[in-house]
Amino acid sequence: MSYELPKKLRELTPYEPLTGACPIRLDANESFLSPPEDLRRQIARAVAQVDFNRYPDPCCSRLCGLFADFFGLDPQRVVAGNGSDELIGLIVSSFTQPGEAMVVTSPEFSMYAFYAQMCGVEVHSFGKDPQTLDLDVPGLIAFAKARRAKLLILSNPCNPTSRLISGEEALDVVRALEDCLVVVDEAYMDFADGSVLSAAHRFPNLIVLKTCSKAFGMAAIRLGFAVAGETLARALRAVKSPYNVNAMTQAVGCVLLAPENRGYLLGCIEEIKASREALYQGIRGLDKKEILQVANTRANFVFLKASHPEKTYEALKERGIAIRCMPPYLRVTAGSRAENAALLTALNELLT
Ligand SMILES: *Cc1c(COP(=O)(O)O)cnc(C)c1O
Repeated sequence: MSYELPKKLRELTPYEPLTGACPIRLDANESFLSPPEDLRRQIARAVAQVDFNRYPDPCCSRLCGLFADFFGLDPQRVVAGNGSDELIGLIVSSFTQPGEAMVVTSPEFSMYAFYAQMCGVEVHSFGKDPQTLDLDVPGLIAFAKARRAKLLILSNPCNPTSRLISGEEALDVVRALEDCLVVVDEAYMDFADGSVLSAAHRFPNLIVLKTCSKAFGMAAIRLGFAVAGETLARALRAVKSPYNVNAMTQAVGCVLLAPENRGYLLGCIEEIKASREALYQGIRGLDKKEILQVANTRANFVFLKASHPEKTYEALKERGIAIRCMPPYLRVTAGSRAENAALLTALNELLT
């Protein structure tokens, strides 16, 4: 008998990046702000000093220390990852057994369910209100209890809906599901108020995830963080591959999170928030029959329901503008002033 792929892999297709020329990229929720010259010089100096013949620090001690200082946390509770994506995969595969139940909401960041399927975990999806896209938190708790969930992951603010639940509501979930690991992915919390980051150490069943890919504009370096209580943080350090964050990324992350660059990062957040407000108001102001609903955003993107999402998506791509299409919805990342203007002009011409 010849070799056959495991069943779970047969239908999989590799992640396909966008093809064709798309000068305006509003599809991946990246920051539209790229590091200025001065910061690039600091980065170049730091990378030039890397001990390239040595393995990197497996604990990312300096990096985790700077991250902890930035957010006012205890560095012992911080674990760095090769993007928060790596941490999500690690948590799903290491903190569950095949056949156990994991709860996600819907619509939600698709990677959670993807990793679960790879390790034989049963995914149960709790739908959001189709009209408001709001999450019924008591409903979610009851749903997870009924399925004896061992793991519950949600993004807050949510990708893709852009909606926020309060920190108190997130902690309600953590408290109510004592025997379930709750992961709150705060990839977009820099744009909103409702973080549970500083509460993470108080609960034995909570992990909070952060990333440098969105507000901090560093998607290229692949750097994310998990923050949790002592037992969970230790377990995460124990299961991760030892050298998961390479030395160049650690060096760049240390520059980025250094106290002298704090002002720059906080300024980026304000600029991105201003852009998302402008984009949100701009899309609402178009007043098109084909735009059925625009969610009130707390992230760096706008989520809207459209009558012909695929058609609109393709027509925008023709014009060199990439957005995300998830029928019946479209998701548009807040861009520079010029990018937002190009998108609004195109939508105004394309939609009725
Ligand atoms: C973008 C995104 C991430 C990815 O973070 P990386 O650190 O770039 O891997 C994680 N979670 C959510 C909800 C995201 O939208």
